[in-house]
Amino acid sequence: MQDLTPEDLLELTPEEVRTELTAEDVHDRLLTEPEVRHIVQAYDAFWLHPGNPQRPHVELASKRCSNGYINLRPVLRNSNLCHLFGRQLDLLIRNANVGRVDIVVGSYRAAIGLAHSVSIWLGCKFDFTRKEITPDGQTIQVWDSDQRIGTDELVLHVEELVTTTETARKVREGIARAHEWPIRYAPVIPVAVHRSNSANMDGSRFLQLAHYDIADWAREECPLCAQGSERLQPKEGGNWARLMGEA
Ligand SMILES: [Zn+2]
Repeated sequence: MQDLTPEDLLELTPEEVRTELTAEDVHDRLLTEPEVRHIVQAYDAFWLHPGNPQRPHVELASKRCSNGYINLRPVLRNSNLCHLFGRQLDLLIRNANVGRVDIVVGSYRAAIGLAHSVSIWLGCKFDFTRKEITPDGQTIQVWDSDQRIGTDELVLHVEELVTTTETARKVREGIARAHEWPIRYAPVIPVAVHRSNSANMDGSRFLQLAHYDIADWAREECPLCAQGSERLQPKEGGNWARLMGEA
């Protein structure tokens, strides 16, 4: 496949997206949002609550409730699509004129492959933070690389999915704890799929390939909990299949 137009790409079957689509097929063209959704959909990687309170809803990593969920792992574990999404973020970054990037940093764990792909397209270094659970049960991100970020280096922070900005914020907190000097971040955070309502985080503007409008609530304010809808952790056991109505 070469020089696919948006119309061509939207006609690809899920099987064709999964096995044949590559970065070269769209060259230096930015994908439209419907195309990104089409690729995500080829993996059943997006779920939206149907509105019926008999059906379960999800608990996010932040413990908040939501009526939708995106899991990009099934998409990005395919090197052809990780390479394609990396190229797409590379194009967004180049269009934003952020200047020379020295190092791309991603969060554990889903963003690692994508951040690495972006670093290859940009021709720069790559590193990542690691997730850790503190003795009091808090999830944090830590920088345990023996390599540190230089005082004059520009860091591009890449995320695969931004749901509440919590993970992205923890990445920066973890990096800050491991360095005695201020870190220079690019003024943009490229992200494959953005679902928060925040346009910025700590002075960096989100640049996304697609935005999904999905609501999230504190548990005590959740209308689905109030209607008796069961709350599931989507990545636990067979919960994803239950959400998708397959079990
Ligand atoms: Zn709820």
